[in-house]
Amino acid sequence: MDLLDILTDKGLRRELPTREEALAVLATTDDQLLDVVAAAGRVRRQWFGRRVKLNYLVNLKSGLCPEDCSYCSQRLGSKAEILKYTWLKPDQAAEAAAAGVAGGAKRVCLVASGRGPTDRDIDRVADTIAAIKDADASVEVCACLGLLSDNQAERLKAAGADAYNHNLNTSESTYGDITTTHTYADRVDTVAKAHGAGLSACSGLIAGMGESDEDLVDVVFALRELDPDSVPVNFLIPFEGTPLAEEWNLTPQRCLRILAMVRFVCPDIEVRIAGGREVHLRSMQPLGLHIANSIFLGDYLTSEGQAGQADLDMIKDAGFEVEGAEQTTLPRHRAHAAAGGGCGGHQEEGACGTGGGCGTACGTVCGGHGEAPEAVETADVESAGTRAAGTEDEARTDLVRVRRRGAGTELAPNA
Ligand code: SF4
Repeated sequence: MDLLDILTDKGLRRELPTREEALAVLATTDDQLLDVVAAAGRVRRQWFGRRVKLNYLVNLKSGLCPEDCSYCSQRLGSKAEILKYTWLKPDQAAEAAAAGVAGGAKRVCLVASGRGPTDRDIDRVADTIAAIKDADASVEVCACLGLLSDNQAERLKAAGADAYNHNLNTSESTYGDITTTHTYADRVDTVAKAHGAGLSACSGLIAGMGESDEDLVDVVFALRELDPDSVPVNFLIPFEGTPLAEEWNLTPQRCLRILAMVRFVCPDIEVRIAGGREVHLRSMQPLGLHIANSIFLGDYLTSEGQAGQADLDMIKDAGFEVEGAEQTTLPRHRAHAAAGGGCGGHQEEGACGTGGGCGTACGTVCGGHGEAPEAVETADVESAGTRAAGTEDEARTDLVRVRRRGAGTELAPNA
């Protein structure tokens, strides 16, 4: 049976693919890519229709972090010229959140740099949640504050938070290569704490940090094991002034394969295209919507996204619709399981979990035969070993723009 038929059938039945099948998705060729997108699209539509959930980031505290996550522009020793500021006041954060909600976001993600919150920080965030919910009780709030200590998740839940984000980011075996100041196990522990407190767990990954296909499959299977309601997929933004500034490893085609693999492993979980969407998917962003059911509106934590109106136009032009506050994100069977936790949802690069063609010589073969593209047989892709093309990206530093508007500035947010 064709690999994509197998994966589609499994996705429609919510059955976990094998590791080999997940790896085979990453090894498909560019000739097979539209078939991969179409197969993942069938699974996406089964569980999420044509809805796109919009999420809005508010960076409550930017930069000045003592941790050393090598992908992060806010890390210890970062030379990236990002905005640096300490905690926004609740009314300032609520004002930024309101701009995102007015732009169509149903979830606001409150993010703060740092290893983890103090109890005083939890108080600040509780006041911010209250200010946001006073203005609009229907807004979902996700907190992303780093590693949680005992009882902090419960306090956030009591304050009205719906969800908590903390990303695993990469495989357990390579985690020590990207961060030394905390461990993979610390991150797993925080996701478990969020779950245990009845918060909707959100946990994802960052692709493009030099990891192997096996690492990507490892982290996505580990995420599935944690059973989050949402999985943000970040594509590394290689910020100048960070250790990963030279890691331009992604192409739009590679990003689509990664999203498809995540969708097949997490068929009924919210899959969110997070940081790096504009930098790496570029003009292929609308194809990503056929796989993922969620994106961030407007800007990211420390970098600028495309104009919020361009996000809305893209969704409409691609034949999708913005998910309304009255609609439930998750399919019924998962929404019930998550009841009490809420909805399904967080996140971007950094901040704690929170960056072709015709093979050989064109002209010799690509002109004439008009043959139908081959079916994607598991054996074929396995023997192909690696992707035929499109594994190297050029350094598109021209697309990386440090955020200079919105939270922490005098300028209006992008939403
Ligand atoms: S990801 Fe979070 S903990 Fe790591 S350096 Fe960035 S802000 Fe700090």
